[in-house]
Amino acid sequence: NLTSRLTRVLDSIRGQGRLTEEQIAAAARELRMALLEADVALPVIKDFIDKVKERALGAEITQSLTPGQAFLRVVQSELTATLGGTAEPLNLRAQPPAVILMAGLQGSGKTTTTAKLARRLKHDEKKNVIVVSCDVYRPAAIEQLRIVATAVGVDVFPSSVGQSPVDIATAALAHARLQYADVLIVDTAGRTTVDQDMMAEIAQLHAALNPVETLFVVDSMTGQDAAKTARAFADALPLTGVILTKIDGDSRGGAALSVRQVTGRPIKFLGVGEKSDKLEVFHPDRIANRIIGQGDMLSLIEETAKKVDAEKAAKLANKLKSKKSFDLEDFREQMQQVQNMGSMESLIEKLPGGAQIQAQMKNVNTAKEMGKVIAIINSMTPQERKFPDLIKASRKRRIAAGSGVQVQDVNKLMRQFETTRDMMKKVMSGGMAKMMRSLAG
Ligand code: GDP
Ligand code: MG
Repeated sequence: NLTSRLTRVLDSIRGQGRLTEEQIAAAARELRMALLEADVALPVIKDFIDKVKERALGAEITQSLTPGQAFLRVVQSELTATLGGTAEPLNLRAQPPAVILMAGLQGSGKTTTTAKLARRLKHDEKKNVIVVSCDVYRPAAIEQLRIVATAVGVDVFPSSVGQSPVDIATAALAHARLQYADVLIVDTAGRTTVDQDMMAEIAQLHAALNPVETLFVVDSMTGQDAAKTARAFADALPLTGVILTKIDGDSRGGAALSVRQVTGRPIKFLGVGEKSDKLEVFHPDRIANRIIGQGDMLSLIEETAKKVDAEKAAKLANKLKSKKSFDLEDFREQMQQVQNMGSMESLIEKLPGGAQIQAQMKNVNTAKEMGKVIAIINSMTPQERKFPDLIKASRKRRIAAGSGVQVQDVNKLMRQFETTRDMMKKVMSGGMAKMMRSLAG
């Protein structure tokens, strides 16, 4: 991924306060490759790289950063900014019913997303929602909307093949007014490629409905094509936002950057699955991470936060900070947490400065061994755990017998414990304490 590439290209060169032009050029080449791989459209890549280069020239490399990290930080913040900075909510500020018009190619996910939005507005925001299909070319499409909308408990204004889309839309709007609906979502037809008839038709619908939101629905898997489609729709319609679908697939997220750049409109939601509840508010920073293959850190923290009892982690961190001595109780607790987290190696590897800690942890951390360690500590008395120096030969024999291991296993554990105790002293002042506090916070 981009991180390791940049590390390779840049981190061999150290010792300056700022990135040099040479370094930036090398990094920009790597960035270009990464963006291509993420399926960002070519003209968009060029623009983006120009902006990053400019910002990177002024970027400082502080002590905590390597040149690679410094560049990556610029990329990340520029990506997030280009993607819109913060999440933008749906705009429903209109005389009710607020009309939402769905636009996009066939198969992009309009009908599915219509039901997802309807569900969200009804369940989460307690809105009175009506949906209607103007896809008069495919009876199956009308039926599809009826089924998915009904499944989420939303009313469907009936329509059928052969009617004019504008007539349907006008009738649905009148009906929605009579029903005092808060929102009317209008699903439309799409072709497999952009064509003039389709564009003319949706422009007419737009004129008839005067929607407060005109959402361009685009399949994130379409990669390079997403930019072209976006341009065609943005030319034909005053879009207000974008919904990027099928981001649950193996799309690299590049379409997000292309579509945002081309339309200049905020991406409001992501479709993350076929089911009606698979719609997420768009967070620019997450897609930014996905594009540069840097999701590791965020998903790591989320994953860890889920598994680790955050409160316990904080308590442990505080205890270790305030305590002079790290005892066997602490050691056991730590092992248990690590077991919960999965592999300590992969966890630590991802932390800033993790390499050094990892080297020290190597001998302590296979999962099987941790189970054994915990079993041995369980066989000790509370007194022994608190005052490990008490544990001499005869106690070791008793503990070994109690936990079904050899005395040498107990010896090994005691050595591991001592190594860890030393390490904890060093680490708790740095990265680990920070991590544990951040998990708690
Ligand atoms: P439309 O032609 O634009 O109305 O597209 P549809 O709503 O019929 O969706 C086309 C296909 O894409 C269907 O099989 C949907 O189940 C699927 N689909 C839509 N959105 C998503 C999504 O976010 N994730 C996944 N995995 N599939 C989706
Ligand atoms: Mg459809």
